[in-house]
Amino acid sequence: MSFTIPETMRAWQVTTPGPIDGDKAPLELVEKPVPVPNVGEVLVRVLTCGVCHTDLHVTEGDLPVHKSHVTPGHEIVGEVVKLGESANRFKIGDRIGIPWLRWTCGVCEYCRSGQENLCPNSLYTGWDHDGGYAEYVTVPEGFAYRIPDQFDSQTAAPLLCAGIIGYRAFLRANVPAGGSLGLYGFGGSAHITAQIAIDQGIEVHVLTRGDDAKRFALKLGAKSAGGAYDLPPVKLDSAIIFAPVGDIVPKALAGLKPGGTLALAGIHMTDIPQLNYQAAIFHEKNLTSVESNTRSNGEEFLRLADRLDITPETTAYPFERADEALRYLSHGDIKGACVLRIGE
Ligand SMILES: [Zn+2]
Ligand SMILES: [Zn+2]
Repeated sequence: MSFTIPETMRAWQVTTPGPIDGDKAPLELVEKPVPVPNVGEVLVRVLTCGVCHTDLHVTEGDLPVHKSHVTPGHEIVGEVVKLGESANRFKIGDRIGIPWLRWTCGVCEYCRSGQENLCPNSLYTGWDHDGGYAEYVTVPEGFAYRIPDQFDSQTAAPLLCAGIIGYRAFLRANVPAGGSLGLYGFGGSAHITAQIAIDQGIEVHVLTRGDDAKRFALKLGAKSAGGAYDLPPVKLDSAIIFAPVGDIVPKALAGLKPGGTLALAGIHMTDIPQLNYQAAIFHEKNLTSVESNTRSNGEEFLRLADRLDITPETTAYPFERADEALRYLSHGDIKGACVLRIGE
């Protein structure tokens, strides 16, 4: 039995970037042609797509427009339905994951030194190229991942950005073995990162808005859960800010031990207020950011998630309600990650 690929598909597109709660809806559900895989790419029938905060930044215009009328979505689980010329890594029917990092040049100094996440020529799914809020999507085969069998397609979706980027943030935060880690914001990424850290014997303290998120953090094994602007109950070795809120930075730095590290995990953050040198930076505190991830971070994270039985908490939304899912995300107090069910 052969599967017939239709000529057109339903897809969401960012028609006019603007507030998700504004008068004019920034996102529209439209009919457009099914994309054709280029050399080295595969065409994927989308099963699920996670809803990430970056989709909100693309939709609301916090990130500059890279492709007009782009389809957001970069936590895509789907089934390979067509191979482009010379694509040979996957077979028809394979279930694969498509992440944020869509392509890197392979020849710049960063690509050649194992830091392809810093490649100035890199392209991103759902920003430079149409993403997974659609029935079909293409991907260069070298940038897709195999999904471990134990994860169903709804559970697997948030692993692909929330999980992978959270893991890179965790590496950047440089937590010592058996040390302590603060997580500011507790949405899709933080709740997966918390599990990775707790499984390794790290003491996790969560600082977030929303009572549901606090309760959820404690249930997952966090040692404490306080407000986003509170100081942690103990000085921390390391911290990660997942919330895109620069106002939290001075508090988070003040909550670190001497020599501690604060990693800012977001692609976008509001301005950081003026810092007091003594409180925020002196005592050799480290302040760093996180840009995307390398493919090897992604492969390593997915192996770890498989072995540690990481369980992302997800809330399913029908494809037709993607705008509602983004609105829900923008209002905070979320438990885990929202996932659009598309082709299941
Ligand atoms: Zn490069
Ligand atoms: Zn993302």
